[in-house]
Amino acid sequence: MNVTASSLSRIWFPVLILLSLLGGIVWFCWPHPQRAVYSLYRERGRSRTLAGLEQYEMRASPHVEVYYTEQDENVVDWVLKATEAAYLPVTEAIGHEPPVRVPVIIYPSRDELRTAFGWSNGESAMGVYWSGTVRLLSPNVWINEKTDKEKRKVFDRLNPIAHELTHYVFDYLTDGNYPRWFTEGLAQRVEYHHTGYLWLEPESTLNQPLYSLRDLEERFDQLQNQPLAYRQSFLLVDYLARVYGEESLAGLVDRLGEGIRFADAVHQITGNSMSTIYSDWHSWTINHSGELEAAG
Ligand SMILES: [Zn+2]
Repeated sequence: MNVTASSLSRIWFPVLILLSLLGGIVWFCWPHPQRAVYSLYRERGRSRTLAGLEQYEMRASPHVEVYYTEQDENVVDWVLKATEAAYLPVTEAIGHEPPVRVPVIIYPSRDELRTAFGWSNGESAMGVYWSGTVRLLSPNVWINEKTDKEKRKVFDRLNPIAHELTHYVFDYLTDGNYPRWFTEGLAQRVEYHHTGYLWLEPESTLNQPLYSLRDLEERFDQLQNQPLAYRQSFLLVDYLARVYGEESLAGLVDRLGEGIRFADAVHQITGNSMSTIYSDWHSWTINHSGELEAAG
């Protein structure tokens, strides 16, 4: 075979282009390879979920697209308006705006929502953030009022949209760079400021042994008393903002967005370790449990 200089350059030129492209990708992704993988999986999950909604209609507004089945036509406008109303407060609180419209899926029954997650019969929720989508149980299922007007009033007061939207925006900012308890505390706090709603149950009383930081960090979803785990995560995030200032909480969120590990970001912002902050918070909570219970 007669290999000439021009045929060599024909072979090598595309190889060099490919190598430079690969080099570029590695260069940009290497500092945060986990984030790149997380984001890839999230986007794949989102595309698959949306592609599986053949029976669903879609209606959009500037920042939101709502997917729904025929029987939930009456609530689409409520969901669009509530999500648009929460959009600015949530994106301002997190300091980030997602690049594309937020997909919100309304599931017509508890069974369909459970099936979408592979949950067992015991598990249920009014809303979930999962893999680049916000998923809601139809208000027609969880609101028992008779007329749409009465239903709407309850929906506007109790819907979980600000909460789930916070998870969504925070996840897009950080690509999963956060402990589970922290995103739950943050979502409850943004929701509380937006709607005044806070999840409190008799089981979440502070007059009982509290979960340790290790419990919250390592097995949040497995903790038996979920109302208590959620309440502690809200109170911890709120404590961070009260003691170190709102700007510190915002700074912590920013650093997580830059890919700095949670423990390092907390230390950079507050000068303390998370275990010291937890221990201070624990003593403060025990000393103020009376006030906190009365406020709740
Ligand atoms: Zn949540």
